[in-house]
Amino acid sequence: VAAMEGAVWVVVEHEGGQEKPVAHELLSEARKVADSLRRELHAIVLCREPGDLGKRLTGHPDRVVFLQSPFLAEYSADGYTAALHSAWQQRKPTLILSSSSLRAMDFMPKLACRLDTGMVSEATALSVTEGGSIRVRRPTYGGRFYLEVEPNRSPPWIVAARPRAFARTDGDRQAEIEMVAVGIQDSDIRARTMERVSRQGAAMDLTEASVVVTGGRGMKGPEHFGLLGKLADLLGGAVGASRAVVDSKWRPPDEQVGKSGRVVSPSLYMAFGVSGAVHHIMGMDTSKFVVAVNNDPKALIFNYADYGIVDDLFQILPELIKAIRSAK
Ligand SMILES: Cc1cc2nc3c(=O)[nH]c(=O)nc-3n(C[C@H](O)[C@H](O)[C@H](O)COP(=O)(O)OP(=O)(O)OC[C@H]3O[C@@H](n4cnc5c(N)ncnc54)[C@H](O)[C@@H]3O)c2cc1C
Repeated sequence: VAAMEGAVWVVVEHEGGQEKPVAHELLSEARKVADSLRRELHAIVLCREPGDLGKRLTGHPDRVVFLQSPFLAEYSADGYTAALHSAWQQRKPTLILSSSSLRAMDFMPKLACRLDTGMVSEATALSVTEGGSIRVRRPTYGGRFYLEVEPNRSPPWIVAARPRAFARTDGDRQAEIEMVAVGIQDSDIRARTMERVSRQGAAMDLTEASVVVTGGRGMKGPEHFGLLGKLADLLGGAVGASRAVVDSKWRPPDEQVGKSGRVVSPSLYMAFGVSGAVHHIMGMDTSKFVVAVNNDPKALIFNYADYGIVDDLFQILPELIKAIRSAK
């Protein structure tokens, strides 16, 4: 029990029996943090049935803990909060780490509130201080500055990190698997899912894609986004959109990149006909490599691009698709 107390926890998000790729990034980084803090690392999975997730999560954690309840068959913020709170009471983890996905932003602040502690979201780096506390780096003012945050309270510390902020590494640790029945009651869950509607053609979660191909108003109309889809498919990426595009109903809201949309950090971000307004930049400026195509040489997007092409995107896009096809 002593080792189980004070562990570093990674809350694993999963859907349809599959963990999200970000879980491996978090476990890789959390391993280093747990080692520096001399703590165990536990992967925490909330579910009804564990399936084969235990096998797939092994490598970095010392333990994979399944918090099980019939009320966790469907995600709910109340169910997750109640289960994590109840497990916290038993085990008192030092650090609870999740991704800053839309779902985690639903339940993690509730958990922080219930534990009467603070929370840092959108973390892009984590380290352990000499004093044995943690230091979290996160962007602020739309990515123009970084903040280094240290908790001024004793644990638990609660941190949500950006997908793709940390590299996934391999580990050879054999995790112990543990099943814990958590006592959640029907009355704990005040809001529940009545129906799931999945959008046709939503191939990939934008925030987890390693390539994002975004179209702005320069795409001229919804009918041209097929070209971007082709390019995204060839590169194994996802299609994004500027707000102007979403407001014009050319693309659905879940594709919007920016301050009021999604924050993405792909290895490659390609922007076609996007002007580069600050509200857009806020959603993509941690991308590793940026390519912009715009026929206005003064477009702001070029300030953020590693490669800029000043030309008509309708000339460039088909050529690019052709070139990548033949290179493949
Ligand atoms: C509170 C607030 C929140 C916001 N949140 C977001 C957000 O989350 N995401 C977001 O994107 N925006 C957001 N915005 C809006 C943002 O300020 C911009 O208005 C928006 O990003 C502009 O979209 P755009 O670049 O597609 O369009 P435009 O600014 O109209 O730019 C179109 C670009 O396409 C180029 N172009 C045109 N034709 C061609 C061609 N044939 N070939 C090549 N280039 C061409 C033009 O030169 C131009 O640069 C927000 C605004 C506010 C006030």
